[in-house]
Amino acid sequence: MPRPRGRIECRRQKETAWRPFRQTDRPPAGRQPNTASDGVNAPCARSRPTHARPGRRRSIDTPTRGPTVLRARTLIPLIGEGPARGGELFAPLRRLDNAAIVLSKGKVAQILPRARELPVGADVRDLGDVTIIPGCVNAHTHLQLSHLAGTTTLHQGFVPWLASLVPLLRLPPNRDSLPDACADIAGTGTVHVGDICGSLPSGLADVAESCGRAGLGVTHFCEWFGHGPPLADGPLPWPPTCREEVPGIVTGHCAPACHSLYATSPGLLADVRACCRQWGLPFAMHLAESPEETLMLTEGAGALADFLRQRVLPADYRAPGRRPLAYARELDLLGPGTLAVHGVQLDRDEIGELGASGSALCLCPRSNDGIGVGLPDVPALLESGTLLCLGTDGLSSAPDLDVRNEAVFLRKRMDTPPEALIRLLTVNGAAALGLEDTGIGVLDRGHPARFAILPKDLEY
Ligand SMILES: [Zn+2]
Repeated sequence: MPRPRGRIECRRQKETAWRPFRQTDRPPAGRQPNTASDGVNAPCARSRPTHARPGRRRSIDTPTRGPTVLRARTLIPLIGEGPARGGELFAPLRRLDNAAIVLSKGKVAQILPRARELPVGADVRDLGDVTIIPGCVNAHTHLQLSHLAGTTTLHQGFVPWLASLVPLLRLPPNRDSLPDACADIAGTGTVHVGDICGSLPSGLADVAESCGRAGLGVTHFCEWFGHGPPLADGPLPWPPTCREEVPGIVTGHCAPACHSLYATSPGLLADVRACCRQWGLPFAMHLAESPEETLMLTEGAGALADFLRQRVLPADYRAPGRRPLAYARELDLLGPGTLAVHGVQLDRDEIGELGASGSALCLCPRSNDGIGVGLPDVPALLESGTLLCLGTDGLSSAPDLDVRNEAVFLRKRMDTPPEALIRLLTVNGAAALGLEDTGIGVLDRGHPARFAILPKDLEY
């Protein structure tokens, strides 16, 4: 496959030469803890997420005479847990019945195994007959597309869905849909999202602002789409749709990303992956989502190839003649740090290879089901050693942005063990986005006091 003209500079420069921002006195994005995720949010609603406007959500450890204490029937804090793979996913989780969490300044001050030993004067908030888990990570969203809920063609397959989506991208977004979506997500107990940005001509700053106001941490994936010459303006690896706004992203993580093996040129894919590797950032791309993708990459044929030839493929496009995973391997896209999304079309051998590579895979089963591309082989993926996590995808294909509902879906449709699903929602999501050092995914002393209520369908 010929390499496109225009080379990303990151492999030719020393690491210290990288300056992702034009304001050189700012630290590079992607290395900063997200201050928004350090606060304490109100406990997630047990019923439908709140539509409360940003700024109106109440801090749960507002000043009182004694410490604030949360109590619930059961607490699964995941203390001592890290990212789990293979058989580790199924290990019993430590459950604390009638436990309590003492909060201080947005952090967990203490876990009390028995709530009867509460501190004197404590302001006790009893959440009742529920199980608490650490705040969840939604590793794949498209918040920019939140205004497209209910507008695309579903259950007809990938290309009908895509064909219905593309014209809608030219419409101006509804002003309230983005902040409402972020508030909804935070209300479900999600503390951090991995969000794909770049589908619209601008809007990265809007996503950052809406997430910040909702108290939602975010890793921005600035997505390259298309087969044009990469990185035309030098060493900055940001796509044109995000380029002007990246310097304003001073909190949170920000990483260049690629849409997919079929909609992004091979040169860009390899260069952006190399850049993320050098910066220590996660590299995100959609992978093996639809049968049409496989057909296009192997034979250059099918409805997706026809659709893209009219829009983004160069006249001299030649299919690589590889299935998605083999093509990703050929471009050196796999390995630790890579966050592939979907994996629906991977067969057993490919799943084994993905796991052995050290890559992470984000499952978005409700989006897959809604579009009509099938479902990933979750049992094989769980056994494979792949670092698995969960994401909702965007409202253009998913019914809501509550990542816990992805777990409920897998529990009901594939009888996936709840222990594995709880890990996917928490520690694994944090690891897939490179957030292990933030304390997200574990409720332990000194960690962010952010939690979610486990859906009844996941209790065991
Ligand atoms: Zn997506």
